[in-house]
Amino acid sequence: MVDSIKINIIGAGIAGLSAGIYARLNGFEVTIFEMGPKAGGVCSSWEREGYFVNGSINWLVGSAPGIDFYQMWHHLGVLQDNTIHNHSSFIEYRNIDGVDVHFYVEPEKLRKHLKEISPEDHETIDIFIDGIKTFAAAKFPMDRAFELLNAWDWVKVFMGNIPMVVALGKYNQLSIRDFAKKFRSKVLQTAFENFWSAEMSMVWFLMHLSFAANGTAGFPLGGSGKFAERLVKRFIDLGGKIEYNSKVAKIIIEGKTAKGIQLENGQQINSDYIISACDGHTVLHKMLGPKFVDEKTFDSYNSLQLYPPIVYFSAGVRRNFEDLQSSIIGMNIPLKNPMKVGNITHTRASFQIYNFDPTLAPQGKTLITSILDTDYEFWKNLYSQGEDAYRNERAKICHELLASLELEFPDISNQIDFIDTATPITYENWTGNHKGSYEGWLPTPEALKIKLPTHFQSLKYFYMAGHWVMPGGGMPPAAFTGRNCIQLICKEEKIHFEAEV
Ligand SMILES: Cc1cc2nc3c(=O)[nH]c(=O)nc-3n(C[C@H](O)[C@H](O)[C@H](O)COP(=O)(O)OP(=O)(O)OC[C@H]3O[C@@H](n4cnc5c(N)ncnc54)[C@H](O)[C@@H]3O)c2cc1C
Repeated sequence: MVDSIKINIIGAGIAGLSAGIYARLNGFEVTIFEMGPKAGGVCSSWEREGYFVNGSINWLVGSAPGIDFYQMWHHLGVLQDNTIHNHSSFIEYRNIDGVDVHFYVEPEKLRKHLKEISPEDHETIDIFIDGIKTFAAAKFPMDRAFELLNAWDWVKVFMGNIPMVVALGKYNQLSIRDFAKKFRSKVLQTAFENFWSAEMSMVWFLMHLSFAANGTAGFPLGGSGKFAERLVKRFIDLGGKIEYNSKVAKIIIEGKTAKGIQLENGQQINSDYIISACDGHTVLHKMLGPKFVDEKTFDSYNSLQLYPPIVYFSAGVRRNFEDLQSSIIGMNIPLKNPMKVGNITHTRASFQIYNFDPTLAPQGKTLITSILDTDYEFWKNLYSQGEDAYRNERAKICHELLASLELEFPDISNQIDFIDTATPITYENWTGNHKGSYEGWLPTPEALKIKLPTHFQSLKYFYMAGHWVMPGGGMPPAAFTGRNCIQLICKEEKIHFEAEV
């Protein structure tokens, strides 16, 4: 009987909730153990002065039909009420050497605009836009764990996507920074380098632009908190259980078999399967160790580059921004003065101004957020120096960002209801993620060559999910890897995997 098979899941982030929901859809008995007081992990919102600070989602890949992730989000119960906002541009640059760059999601509109900015770069622009269109036309099956694709499935994938396979070969080992160097125009170089992390592979970049071009990367209104709430509701409605404030300290292993988990308070809970959906480093180094994890995996975890930890700025302002063109990343502006965030100097910053989601602020008011790359060691060190030093540094960053916003929106400093920052220490304390990384491994050219394991030959009945097992991270890989664990468990139990009730 399937309902007598018990699964313990560590962590109620997107990966843990996805694994939990699919486990219930397939009839398993399942409990999620979450160390915090609520679910969502990094995909959370918090309430400040009547505003809801959206702590994660800018775009949800799979928000519309045309990509397998859409079915997955549908199964997970987050798209049913159709509250998706689609932006018409990816990012809006103000004043790069006097020029505004609108990074439209519609490829032909973007091609025309970029060529108007720099006619002499027409060849590179054509290559770039054709790259987006190639990825937009591709169909990659994301309905199954890759382990469940057989040789014939892979042949079909490659034969059905020859232009994309060629593009993969061309762009996989090229970073955004290196591609940007191909432009003669300084304006376009700056635009490309400031878009996202410039060390990322161009494949990752083109893929995401292609999702936006296809209209499958919208914003779920209500933001991260509402999104996580919907997943929790779906899980509970299906009969799942979540134990909050229950930090898992250990995986109980007998011989080569995972038998259960042990909480920090010493309580042991046995199960037939264990899925870890929390920080990968903790699992490998503290919960498993070299007896079960191979050297190659440890090497990958040591050599891969993290998404840089971030300082997450948020502000609630007493005003509307009716005429402002919204975009996926937001409005990127030059800062008043170069600004150090930890040991990283910024000359520009992107602000997300949520004029497109009135649910995040009281009427007539607007939430603003900004993501700024930083380094973990600076904040760790500062935090150890005591509350005052830590608070003062955060206040300084808020002050400097406000001064830059003031140049775009005069008098905004007098319209502030609250202003705040989260640091890598916040993310580390809140979610346990290694060095406060908010999305796992950066999809650099090197990272995209590496396949990280989700289970180990030497340990039966144990699986890993979440942004640490799939370089690039983000919510779709988190949910996808959570679902994969259940598909693999179904295979192990010789049960047909079901995705619907
Ligand atoms: C500012 C920001 C913007 C982002 N923007 C986007 C975006 O636009 N689109 C996108 O797709 N992604 C985005 N992301 C990334 C995305 O939110 C994450 O990659 C994804 O939510 C990770 O989910 P996860 O379940 O793998 O991990 P986590 O969210 O880290 O969940 C792990 C859970 O495990 C719990 N846990 C940890 N250790 C233990 C333990 N020992 N015992 C019990 N519980 C434990 C944690 O408390 C947490 O709840 C963004 C993230 C941030 C911070």
